[in-house]
Amino acid sequence: MQTLAYGFPKLGKKREFKQLLENFWKGTLEEEAFYEGINNLKLERAKIYQKNVDLFPSNELSLYDFILDTAIMVGAIPGRFQPYQGLKTYFEMAKGKQALELTKWFNTNYHYLVPEIETKDFSLFENFPLKDFLFYQNFGVNTLPKLVGPFTFLKLAKLVKTSSEGITVEKITDSKVFEEILKHLVPVYQEILKTLKEVEPQAVLIEEPALVMDLEPWEWKLVKKVYEKLSGFTDLWVLTYYDSVSDYQAFIDLPVKGLGLDLVSNAENFNNLKQLGFPEDKILIAGIINGRQVWRANLEAKLREIEFLLKINQNLVITNSCPLFHLPVSLEGEDLLPIELKNKLAFAEEKLTELDLLKRGLEGDLEALGLIAESKDKLQVSFGQNEEVKARISNLTEQDFIRDLPYQERIKLQQQRLNLPIFPTTTIGSFPQTEEVRRMRAKFNKREISLDEYKDFIRQKIAEVIKLQEELGLDVLVHGEFERTDMVEFFAQKLEGIATTKEGWVLSYGSRVYRPPIIYGDVWRKEPMTLEEITYAQSLTQKPVKGMLTGPVTILNWSYYREDLPKEQIAYQIALALFDEVKDLEKAGIKIIQIDEPAFREGAPIKRKDWDSYFTWAVKAFRLCAKALPETQIHTHMCYSEFNEIISYIAAMDFDVISIEASRSKGEIIEAFETFSGWDRQVGLGVYDIHSPAIPDKEEMKAIVKRALKILPKELLWINPDCGLKTRKWEEVIPALKNMVEVAQELRQEV
Ligand code: GLN
Ligand code: ZN
Repeated sequence: MQTLAYGFPKLGKKREFKQLLENFWKGTLEEEAFYEGINNLKLERAKIYQKNVDLFPSNELSLYDFILDTAIMVGAIPGRFQPYQGLKTYFEMAKGKQALELTKWFNTNYHYLVPEIETKDFSLFENFPLKDFLFYQNFGVNTLPKLVGPFTFLKLAKLVKTSSEGITVEKITDSKVFEEILKHLVPVYQEILKTLKEVEPQAVLIEEPALVMDLEPWEWKLVKKVYEKLSGFTDLWVLTYYDSVSDYQAFIDLPVKGLGLDLVSNAENFNNLKQLGFPEDKILIAGIINGRQVWRANLEAKLREIEFLLKINQNLVITNSCPLFHLPVSLEGEDLLPIELKNKLAFAEEKLTELDLLKRGLEGDLEALGLIAESKDKLQVSFGQNEEVKARISNLTEQDFIRDLPYQERIKLQQQRLNLPIFPTTTIGSFPQTEEVRRMRAKFNKREISLDEYKDFIRQKIAEVIKLQEELGLDVLVHGEFERTDMVEFFAQKLEGIATTKEGWVLSYGSRVYRPPIIYGDVWRKEPMTLEEITYAQSLTQKPVKGMLTGPVTILNWSYYREDLPKEQIAYQIALALFDEVKDLEKAGIKIIQIDEPAFREGAPIKRKDWDSYFTWAVKAFRLCAKALPETQIHTHMCYSEFNEIISYIAAMDFDVISIEASRSKGEIIEAFETFSGWDRQVGLGVYDIHSPAIPDKEEMKAIVKRALKILPKELLWINPDCGLKTRKWEEVIPALKNMVEVAQELRQEV
């Protein structure tokens, strides 16, 4: 048996990757020094791999995104980026003014760049896999070249069509078109494999995670055709992950040498292995170490699993269940975590040592067996339990999920209290997190200023932003969220049962990092979390100030979470803690509470058959925390969600107002609401894109509202930006909001 690992985080222990990129972008680092830094990171990762596993890939350290690299590899470079001029163009495609669209990678928090297929004239433009293999070979390091497979690439790409009616950019869903494009793409892959054959790697790793999606029979047929054409150069090992393959038989029949299965995300692959077997002449690449969660594995149980797998197939390679880049690099620096918790954790580096222990344990190495037994003892230490929370959950009744009055009656009470004009204006919550705000927070964290001084500073910021919003003429105000680093981490730090890390950074895209919290125990609220700031803000104005909470589903989906409790239960625990906050805000006289759920849609499982169970508890979790008094207006916010297929779940959340993105789609998004008959809730139209520094044009914003008015009556529409303003500058925010408020005022006269 051999061990393989892949997808190790590229960030570096001290976030070196981020620094290199950002310094290069700023111009403080020359290209040569930049590459030198990158090469050092490459060699470092090879060392970490070598220490622990037999096999590992090259071509893993993309300078921005591996799907972008795949597009460039096959020459799928849209005309607007040509002529391609090395790094300059590369980063223009990634983050320039006309960059490719950034979107969620499967159901993870990583984002990839969506390739745009303009022509079928693919060609081998950059042989990244060969180049990187040779880079390592030069240093005497033996690797397996790795690349994203043609099927997954096309599944994620969009086709650009130009007709007399204009340009459309859409996913390729037509089987004929898909096949035709693939036919042109495969020769490029053949060419790459031919060049790789010459350097004689043990195998080439091809990532095809799209094979876990719901696929049509014609798609599986195409996959087979593709691999018939790609086999015969070198041994191919096809990796799948994040879920079970959607057609097990078709997958194991593929004419390739190695087949990778995720044996962690659910039991389906494993059951299929047991029932349908596995071809003797192929290598089973078993993903048994969880690449998405931070928990140490029960290695004794894993050893038994390996013994079982060996009975099914002697040609066994064990590996992580999916790329390791969803995990922080190493536990090393986490000296603030409680030891009972730390003992249960394994970040990326520790996952590699688990693979090593398993291999040595299997060979009967006594030291390894000792460590395996020891880690099991540590796993059994119970930690973070709270009987009261458990009791509260088991005592929940149907009534806890239902508000006391139906919407049509609530809305009357709310209107009386709020007395808002039509087209009410508001913002999504955060205002610019300036250098000053970050500096003061850092000073406070380093104890350079006292808690009182820090709080005074935050109060001063709140007072300023309240005054500004009044001057701008906004109808519903916010306190600005200056006290928050991140909408999830802020609550994680306040809640019991959730830990936050010091250095547990994970790349979300480009050089953007975040630190996912770790939900390890029963979640509860020790004391109010947001009350002080919100009530202070409200005390400064006659206008309503929104209470601002992050929703239970988003807190859960953007954190690592315990595995000894169903996700549903964890969500209810978080929801109850938030419910307590809602009650406190109400008591303090707050009339509107916004519960943000940007991760509500994207947390949905990959396969449709699993949607109903996910959305059912997700909706309930939201309703549990949103069971406010009828006169309290509950808002939710989802930035960039596709509502088309899930509108009935959205409706079931029973909020009073939802704010959504509407500017990128020029208001088209609103069509989803037409598909739900009897839609009666208020919708906040995100009339301008907060990701752009540009000051939004009044006519463009108005056009979006008018587009929406074709579908929803004016009484239901609010006007707001499409997300929080924390990444913008004041000099952008002020004129933008001024225009936005004027749009509302003019529309009140016009329609
Ligand atoms: N209230 C948050 C903010 O304004 C919402 C952020 C989000 O949806 N991502 O920043
Ligand atoms: Zn948002």
